[in-house]
Amino acid sequence: MSNKFHYRVWLITMGLLMIVPISSYAWSNHTFLTYPALRGLPEFQEPIPAEPLESFLVKEKDKIGELLKAEEAWAVSNITAYPPLPTALDFSKSKEADFRLRFLKALRLNPEMKLPLYSMVLPGSPVPAKQSIPRTALSVLKHDFQNTIYVPLNPGEKISALEVLATAADEPDNGLDINLWEDNDTPFGKEYGYGKQPFGNPKLDYGTQAPFHMGFYHESSIVYKAAPSFQKTFPEQRAHLYQSLTKLAFQTGHSYWGYRFAGWGLHYVQDMTMPYHTTIMPGRMTITMLSIALLDMIGIHGPYKSAVSEVSRAHILIEKLQNEGLREAYKKQQKDYVLFKALGDSAADSAYPAYSDHFISQVAAKGSNVVAKSLPSILKAIVTDKKAYRDIEKISEEGDYDAGKIIAGAPEKKAQEYNRLIENQMRSLGAFTRIYLKSIK
Ligand SMILES: [Zn+2]
Repeated sequence: MSNKFHYRVWLITMGLLMIVPISSYAWSNHTFLTYPALRGLPEFQEPIPAEPLESFLVKEKDKIGELLKAEEAWAVSNITAYPPLPTALDFSKSKEADFRLRFLKALRLNPEMKLPLYSMVLPGSPVPAKQSIPRTALSVLKHDFQNTIYVPLNPGEKISALEVLATAADEPDNGLDINLWEDNDTPFGKEYGYGKQPFGNPKLDYGTQAPFHMGFYHESSIVYKAAPSFQKTFPEQRAHLYQSLTKLAFQTGHSYWGYRFAGWGLHYVQDMTMPYHTTIMPGRMTITMLSIALLDMIGIHGPYKSAVSEVSRAHILIEKLQNEGLREAYKKQQKDYVLFKALGDSAADSAYPAYSDHFISQVAAKGSNVVAKSLPSILKAIVTDKKAYRDIEKISEEGDYDAGKIIAGAPEKKAQEYNRLIENQMRSLGAFTRIYLKSIK
C-alpha cells in the first residue's frame, strides 16, 4: 500500500475513533430484567447457602488455575484482537496471598471490587429487617441516583438461586470492567496488558467499560479497515469465561458461586439486545459515517458534533425510558406490565439456536444491529419536549429525572411503534437469558 493510502486510512481512523460517544449505562438495571425472565421457572427457586468468595477460591484453587489456563487459550484463538494475559497475573503462579485479589487480577477485573455477599431489593418489595449496605460497599462507582437498596448476606444464609442470579446480573455495571486500560490512570490498568482504550473517553470511569459491554460485530469491513480498534470488544470473552467458571463452581459443589458467575455472564448477553451497544452509529449508513469523520478531519466539525450528540442522546433516553417503566411497574406490583410479560414470554425461545461460543456476535448482536437501523427515527418521532431532549446528557448527569415527560403526548401510533420495538428487544433479552442458562445447567 502506498504512503498516501496509509495516510488516508489514518485520517479516517482518527476521525472514527473519536466519533463514538460512550457514557451511558445500557439496560439498567439488569436485576429488573432477570427476575421476569426467570420467575416462572421452578429450577431457580431452590434456596442455596451464600458462600464467601475466598472460601470457593481457596478450596478450588488448583482447578481454577487449570480452568483459567484453558480459558486463556480459548480466548487467544477465538476472540479478535484479544491481548494475551501477562504471565505475572497467572492465577496458579501468582504470589498474591489475598485470594480475592489474585483472582480479580488473573481475570483482569477491577481489583477494587470487594465482591461481598449481598442481595438487591426490588422497588416495591419488602425490605428485610437488617441494616442495608451502601452501594459503595459493592461498587467502584460513587453515585446512585436511584437509591437502590442492597442488603448484606451472612455466610451460609439461604437465598434463592433466582435472587443470586438477578442480583449478580447487574454486578458487571458496578465496576468489574472499569478502568482496566493502560490509559485509565490506574496501577492495574498498566499491569493488565489490555493496551489503550480502543474507543470512548479514557477519563470517564463509566465509559471505560464500554469495550467489554459493547460488540460492534456487524459494521461493514471498511469500518474495521479504517478503525481496527472497533473490533477490540470483549463481551464474548466475558460471557465464555463466566460460563466456564459457573460450570466449575457447580461441579465442585459451590452453587452460590455457580449462580453468581452465571449472573455475571448473563449481563453481557443481555447488553447485546440494546441496539446502541451493537452498532457504532445507529440509523446511519457507513458512507455517511465515514463522510462525517472525514469532514471533521478537514475542519468541518458541525456534522460530526451533531452526529455524536444524537447518538449519545438517543442512547440515554431509550435506556432511561425503559428503566422508568420497569421501576414504576415494580413499585406498583403491576404483574401484567407489558415488558414483564415480554421478558417472561418463552414462546419464541426455540426459534433461536442453542447457546454457543459465538452466540453473542452471531445471534444476539446480529438481531440488535438490524433493529438499530430503524430505532433512531422511531425514537425521534415520539420526542415531544425537544429542549429537554437536547439537554439530556447534562440532565442525566445531575440526578434523577422524569424521561417520560420528554415523550409526553407523543402521537399514539408512533408511541405504539416505539413500544413494540422495545417489547421485542425485551422478548429477545428474556429468551437469551434462558438460553444462556440452559447452556450451563
Ligand atoms: Zn453493561
